[in-house]
Amino acid sequence: MRLKVVTAGKSRGIGDGLTYESDDQVAMGTPVKVPLRRSIVEGIVLGIHEAKEAEEFDVKRIQNILCEKPLLNEAQMKTLHWMADYYCCSLRACLSVWLPPPPWSKLLPRKKIVYQLVAEKAVHGKKQRAIVEFLKDRERASSSEVQTETGASGTALKSLVKAGVVREITLPESEERQRPPSFNAPILTHDQMTAAEAIWNDRRPSLLFGITGSGKTEVYADLIVRTLRRGKRAILLVPEILLTENSIERFEKLLDRSHIAVLHSRRPAGERVREWRRIHEGHVWLVIGSRSALFAPVTDLGLVIIDEEHECTYKNEQMPRYHARETAETLARFAEAKLLLGTATPSIESWSRAKEGRYHTARLEKRYLDQPLPDVSIVDLGTVKFGSLYPFSPPLLEAIEERLKRGEQSVLFLNRRGSATALLCLDCRRRVVSPVSQLPFTVHTDRSGKPFLMDHLSGVQAPLPEHCPHCSSSNLFAVGAGTQKIESILGKVFPSARVLRADSDTLTSPEQMRLLLKKMREGQADILLGTQSVVKGLDLPNVTLAAVLLADVGLSLPHFRAGERVFQLLTQLTGRSGRAKPGQVIIQTFRPEAEEVKRAARHEVEEFLDQEWKLRLHMQYPPAVSMIRFILRGNNARLRGEALKLHIEELSRKKGQEIVMTSSPMLMAPGAYHVLVRGFHKDSNEIQAEKYGAIVDVDPIECF
Ligand code: ADP
Ligand code: ZN
Repeated sequence: MRLKVVTAGKSRGIGDGLTYESDDQVAMGTPVKVPLRRSIVEGIVLGIHEAKEAEEFDVKRIQNILCEKPLLNEAQMKTLHWMADYYCCSLRACLSVWLPPPPWSKLLPRKKIVYQLVAEKAVHGKKQRAIVEFLKDRERASSSEVQTETGASGTALKSLVKAGVVREITLPESEERQRPPSFNAPILTHDQMTAAEAIWNDRRPSLLFGITGSGKTEVYADLIVRTLRRGKRAILLVPEILLTENSIERFEKLLDRSHIAVLHSRRPAGERVREWRRIHEGHVWLVIGSRSALFAPVTDLGLVIIDEEHECTYKNEQMPRYHARETAETLARFAEAKLLLGTATPSIESWSRAKEGRYHTARLEKRYLDQPLPDVSIVDLGTVKFGSLYPFSPPLLEAIEERLKRGEQSVLFLNRRGSATALLCLDCRRRVVSPVSQLPFTVHTDRSGKPFLMDHLSGVQAPLPEHCPHCSSSNLFAVGAGTQKIESILGKVFPSARVLRADSDTLTSPEQMRLLLKKMREGQADILLGTQSVVKGLDLPNVTLAAVLLADVGLSLPHFRAGERVFQLLTQLTGRSGRAKPGQVIIQTFRPEAEEVKRAARHEVEEFLDQEWKLRLHMQYPPAVSMIRFILRGNNARLRGEALKLHIEELSRKKGQEIVMTSSPMLMAPGAYHVLVRGFHKDSNEIQAEKYGAIVDVDPIECF
């Protein structure tokens, strides 16, 4: 039969594998050695078909099979092929997420080799006699046992094997199924139990829509227990690498650490290989990790959980540009495993699927022990007279002070691009935009401290205008503040407060994050200042104030998901406060009238989702229609992009599809250009993106 083999070499252009011949039955996912040009290289079998008569060309034979047991099982192989097709990328690119980098021989299960005495012939040499004496007393021993006990070398042992005195036996890999480990089942509340039952009994993917603090984690734990009872294993994905340690602590109470594996891309390569083997050999029953943990070599997969399913970190922004939610749905289908998506603010994607019945929905509408949701107040920054304390409004400063007096803690959210400053008109609430790119200018200061405007896309600079170009008001204000500035203000106003900072600059490992959270839990800090991505999702009982300093920085980017993002952020914010005692939330914003701000403040999640879904349907944006983005970099990016556009137009006309296509320079990547197509139903091999030097991004998340 013919095998399609993706080789370990770096050769480009053969990303979908080379054809080889084999007489033996070989399963997909099997590691093999094949000739390639003048050498022998490793490869993985990714396709099998019968030889066709017409195939005249000279097909080489595989050299040998490295291991009978495939490195990836059938469901995993099917998912890999689905990824290549759906995300329009090569099999090689897909394989790179499923396996650690080559050499793949280091992934092979270790065979246990033992030695047994078979004949008591006379042997020469002290060392050899010592080995015979040693083996006489026991049935068999490993090479290392023999060597340490007798002091003989491996060569001495080998020559005894040659002489027929000692026999080498390769023990078969233990085929007996490992039994699930013991666990401490969680004790659920009535509501949690009802949700868990419903989830377990429905075969569709389930959306667990539970407000912050309702105990979704307990439901996950319960489902993991049910999965173990069936002799199956589970994968739990979390959105942020820094939070993996945090999750492990919870699940260590459920299951002994030796049965848990933690996978994320920041672990050193050697450790990842070791964890991969532990999982492949069946020692692991629960895998916890960031999006790539979905590709752990778990056999008998029974459950995949995606916590905070709405997070954009589940989208991979490199080849293969997969989304963990979509891919998990596919893997779960092929593996006949349960998929559970948990969140307090479902993505519009999942919400629409739940509405259409493709997903089952379970709800948790109350916080654990009926703890009320916190009071939320909105501070309109446009009306606050700031002195040097911007962006701290008087109500926020008062609230922090109150916490300090009471010995309670505060969490302050910063925006990701906290230091990027825009020029805002306080009358019409619009930003001053660059006439070249139509995107907001950023405020900078020159050496002499004089402010000026800069368009990061085109490089155009401009002096600070006196009047708003939209409404002519002179009430212009530079918004945005960096972490350092905020820290220094806190230091000035509350000199005795103990402030911790959590952002990706100060925290580089999950372990550091764990220590920081420990400090908070033990009351060794008063204020936690962090970027959204880090501070979201924390469960700290003594936090009774959560505030976002500037809810709208970062929103200046034109993006159809902007409203959804802000809503998610603000809802997460309300989730951090008052988890164990009554709490307060403050939203500081320049857009108090925005729908997402008002709805988040009133905890109207469902209303927001319904409205947003209607809007997407009306405007024909995802998930109401499909969306593909083509990214072009390098020379003539624009020209190639425009040529690609014509090609897509042609294709859609032939198929009678109505599409909407836009193209523009990319905001975050100077020199790059992209084309966005909505409503196009692709056939992955007809697009020919490589011809235009374009990268295909299916279901894009970042698109500016
Ligand atoms: P969510 O993920 O829904 O925001 P968590 O799972 O973090 O909520 O739960 C919130 C808090 O309530 C946690 O401190 C958790 O330990 C506690 N909690 C929730 N359910 C239970 C339960 N059944 N038994 C004990 N503690 C619980
Ligand atoms: Zn204005």
